[in-house]
Amino acid sequence: SMAQGHGGVRNSTENKSNSFSNDSYARRQNILQQRKSLPIASVEKRLADEVRKHDILIIVGETGSGKTTQLPQFLFQAGFCRDGKVIGITQPRRVAAVTVAKRVAEESGVQLGQRVGYSIRFDDRTSAATKIKYMTDGLLLREALLDPYLSRYSVIIVDEAHERTVHTDVLLGLLKKVQKARSKSGHGHSSADNKKTSNGLLSDNENGARFKGIFKQRQGGNLPPLKLIIMSASLDARVFSEYFGGARAVHIQGRQFPVDILYTLYPETDYLDAALITIFQIHLEEGPGDILVFLTGQEEIESVERLVQERLQQLPEPIRKLITVPIFSSLPSEQQMRVFEPAVAGFRKVILATNIAETSVTIPGIKYVIDPGFVKARSYDPSKGMESLNVVPISKAQALQRSGRAGREGPGKCFRLYPESEFEKLEDSTKPEIKRCNLSNVILQLKALGVDDIIGFDFLEKPSRASIIKSLEQLFLLGALTDDCKLSDPVGHQMSRLPLDPIYSKALIVASQFNCLEEMLITVAMLSVESIFYAPREKLEEARTAMKCFASPEGDHLTLINVYRTSDEFLEKRKMEITKVKNEKLLRKWCKENFINSRSLRQARDVHSQIRGHAEQMGLRVSSCGDDMLQFRRCLAASFFLNAALRQPEGTYRALASGQVVQIHPSSVLFRAKPECIIFNELVQTNNKYIRNITRIDYLWLTELAPQFYTMQN
Ligand code: ADP
Ligand code: MG
Repeated sequence: SMAQGHGGVRNSTENKSNSFSNDSYARRQNILQQRKSLPIASVEKRLADEVRKHDILIIVGETGSGKTTQLPQFLFQAGFCRDGKVIGITQPRRVAAVTVAKRVAEESGVQLGQRVGYSIRFDDRTSAATKIKYMTDGLLLREALLDPYLSRYSVIIVDEAHERTVHTDVLLGLLKKVQKARSKSGHGHSSADNKKTSNGLLSDNENGARFKGIFKQRQGGNLPPLKLIIMSASLDARVFSEYFGGARAVHIQGRQFPVDILYTLYPETDYLDAALITIFQIHLEEGPGDILVFLTGQEEIESVERLVQERLQQLPEPIRKLITVPIFSSLPSEQQMRVFEPAVAGFRKVILATNIAETSVTIPGIKYVIDPGFVKARSYDPSKGMESLNVVPISKAQALQRSGRAGREGPGKCFRLYPESEFEKLEDSTKPEIKRCNLSNVILQLKALGVDDIIGFDFLEKPSRASIIKSLEQLFLLGALTDDCKLSDPVGHQMSRLPLDPIYSKALIVASQFNCLEEMLITVAMLSVESIFYAPREKLEEARTAMKCFASPEGDHLTLINVYRTSDEFLEKRKMEITKVKNEKLLRKWCKENFINSRSLRQARDVHSQIRGHAEQMGLRVSSCGDDMLQFRRCLAASFFLNAALRQPEGTYRALASGQVVQIHPSSVLFRAKPECIIFNELVQTNNKYIRNITRIDYLWLTELAPQFYTMQN
């Protein structure tokens, strides 16, 4: 914008046709400058050499040193895409894949989706021209189903490996196999080698046969070896190096300015309130610099955002110069880029972020970090077979990463909203997700990839036997596996192709048999987003009244369908008059009036159109049960029978599969009605065990519709 003053008057058409207008020239120069000053810039040639020399390389470098944005560009320049091959970079988080791809496209001076693109579930921005492809780790696992040798890729970079998501862990195991197989396809192979991989890609058993066939075909095609790069922000590369047979690890020197750590004197009872107070304390008492606040999810972020706005209104005009910018994974992708825009001169920016800002994305300008010390994490109890999302304390390693975000561009301050004695009690590092999640999803995918012996699979860290067995049992009950633990035909194969949790994939298949797939598609789409309703503190009554218009006495699933359909009708009525942009605006207005979270609804609409496409492609019959709500509730019972619960005399519920005592969450439309028998979709653990998204059913349906699990006795 510096050049704007000198640029003279330009009309907009001229500006568009001339990509070297002064303005964009200045911006490009600026970006070039930024790139050159990154710690990684000075080792470009050395890194390319290391990759040439080693088929597996581990790169450790501090957050913000330029690993994610620069390395793929270096490798592209060094010729790693020469034979038409692609460099793939996996991220555990959707937001990171999207924002980084946009940034790299801009740095390379190309349009997103051309040379640089991204692909995440429900959103693909790549083309035949794409050579640098950012994606989620889960998406690459899915690609392997269609292309077991990942033959389009010359290099795969597994980024953020320290996060140890379940997908990253499984992907590493798979890549190890693929790499072995590809190095053989290039140089011939011996049968001795062949025996080593007892399962999957090269196995000699029936299930491997499919892959063996492909393997033989490909041998003539001579696939070049696959280069594998593991990138991590934590210093401990040993676990990865050992897993890959003593692979080479290199460190990139980072820069870090001192960060003052401040603790509270006493534990805080309400960390959201404490965060709010701290935001204003910094705003009013500290020097310039942006603030980064770590919260646990969309709901918290949106509520703090509202509270900040409210409180700002009470301040005198001249000190209101504070803007809030949220960032979380389900934020629409156009809005995600806002965090990177500098605040207007004189204003302070407060970034309200989930864990995503810990290491995945580096936001410039931050000088203050507020860390309440919590994160939302999955937890799984194999003896109960129930996974839940809980807000839990972070680890020391995470606290360290978070405070580090304040010292990237100069000295900073980190406000930990807990006493120092609490810090001492934190775990050193976070337990890998594979040790605390339901494995049925990955098992389904591994089976579809031809890996039959799950317990024998070469995991980076083995999940417990109990949790593997529990997940196998669940897949069996859902009809995805046969008696001898093979993928069933067609249900298991169909389920593995849907990009959903197995229980939701199964629900779609069941619904097509119950003639209510239309309703189930909406349900699954709405269940896949966080918080459709919102109730701001100051308008609680109004919000409750608004919600009543949608509420169904049958439960939350039908209530969600009502919201979706009413929004549909609202748009349908205005279809003739409006353009797409106006459409969005109208929907936002409608949402506001009805206390519906428009971001969530929009996302649900996107998910809906995607999974509808999948269902149609698979040949599932999409039809509606019309007003026959009984039919739909029976379908819910047949689909979610693993999550059924019975009311107990004291008004709590007992989950039938796990025996756990749970309570209906106050946000449910059935909170007061307390029907005798229900199915639910979510378990949230706070002080109590709450279940959410609930529909009333008849308990007799369970024995009728899920006899494989319920007999008359239990
Ligand atoms: P690392 O992967 O080592 O943590 P990155 O490659 O993500 O580092 O970041 C390098 C630099 O690029 C950082 O200074 C960061 O602020 C900047 N950057 C990354 N994405 C964007 C973006 N979308 N807009 C502006 N700057 C960005
Ligand atoms: Mg990175």
